[in-house]
Amino acid sequence: MIILVINAGSSSVKFTLFDMLDNKKVLATGLIERIGIDGTSMKYSNWKGDKSQGPVDVKNAKDAVKVISERLVDPKTGVVGSLSEIKGAGHRIVHGGEKVNKPVLVTDEVKSILKDCFSMSPLHNPHNLAGIEAAEEVLKGVPNVGVFDTAFHSTMPPRTFLYGIPYELYSEDKIRRYGFHGTSHAYVSKAAAAFDGRPPESLKIITAHLGNGASITAVKGGRSYDTSMGLTPLEGVIMGTRSGDIDPAVIFHIMKIKGLGYQDVDNLLNKKSGVLGLAGIGSSDLRDVEEAANKGNEKCAQALDIYAYRIRKYIGAYMASLGGLDILVFTAGAGENSSTLRANVLEGMEGLGFKLDKAKNDVRSSDIRVISTDDSKVKVMVVPTNEELAIAEFTAEVLGG
Ligand code: AMP
Repeated sequence: MIILVINAGSSSVKFTLFDMLDNKKVLATGLIERIGIDGTSMKYSNWKGDKSQGPVDVKNAKDAVKVISERLVDPKTGVVGSLSEIKGAGHRIVHGGEKVNKPVLVTDEVKSILKDCFSMSPLHNPHNLAGIEAAEEVLKGVPNVGVFDTAFHSTMPPRTFLYGIPYELYSEDKIRRYGFHGTSHAYVSKAAAAFDGRPPESLKIITAHLGNGASITAVKGGRSYDTSMGLTPLEGVIMGTRSGDIDPAVIFHIMKIKGLGYQDVDNLLNKKSGVLGLAGIGSSDLRDVEEAANKGNEKCAQALDIYAYRIRKYIGAYMASLGGLDILVFTAGAGENSSTLRANVLEGMEGLGFKLDKAKNDVRSSDIRVISTDDSKVKVMVVPTNEELAIAEFTAEVLGG
């Protein structure tokens, strides 16, 4: 069963074609970036080893899906004989609101739910919908499946998803915690349980997805119980450019003293804060900040310390909400690759049952692995996330493959 995974963003469309029946092999993958801006280009590679990068004439999602489809059937570098070999398209969708609790076949009703969530996810949902409509037009007859970032968190109880604000803002306006990165949290928590040889239903797991965006989830018995991102991805731990949790009154205060408008503050907290704002070296990439800290930049060292401390604080809070912990999972760009970050997060946590094995933590690998000592009460694992594969698996499942 051949499945095309599409992740349509504001100025890029990423894609991966999987053969689910051939060991979930990646047949081809790539991305078109700078869509709608000068210098639109496409990166493409296939399982045979062909690789290319070059300009493409793509102005919108429909053009993008068309160019991708043409490349997939190209006589030289393509990987399928005809588009009819593609049995389903799986789309990453950020916000599904309260009405979507699992991956679903895209229907008119699903598209209208997606539209209803535009106001809560203005930077993602409109582009995700454009990706679906492009696939409907270009890949005629191929069923589309929506895989929502929020769906995994639909199992959260009211005590974790309701904010302490007037109830009508929830009942009438649906203002609540939704959570994001759900596909990744679901994938890595399931993979960690399988690697550990125990059923997810018996486990208390905390998953720390630490990439450019970052979120922590408490997973109880295989279901999301609480998560650090909220109505939008701004809440929670400190991220590459997002502030994470702050006193909401800071917003009104800076609007007053700096004369800023709502859009300015939105931009400040989403794009100029977090590691970028704290470290002050013009980069939100943890690699740059770690390098500068190693060379003696104190502000960078402080930013890394705050970043790790916030994660530690969430882990402690979620251990309390779960009533203990069996497995802590690190995943995504920084979680998978920075041994320094992992060591910093777990510093001083021995009393709570964490014993990091320094040698194992320092190993660089793209495999799933345990990095705690054999006698550590809590097992600490690094689990490489693979959202594309998770979307392909969900898509095949929905389509009965
Ligand atoms: P993601 O959003 O999951 O693609 O993660 C991207 C982020 O991961 C980058 O912006 C970096 O901050 C971080 N990252 C990736 N590799 C490393 C590394 N070797 N050391 C530290 N941080 C890393």
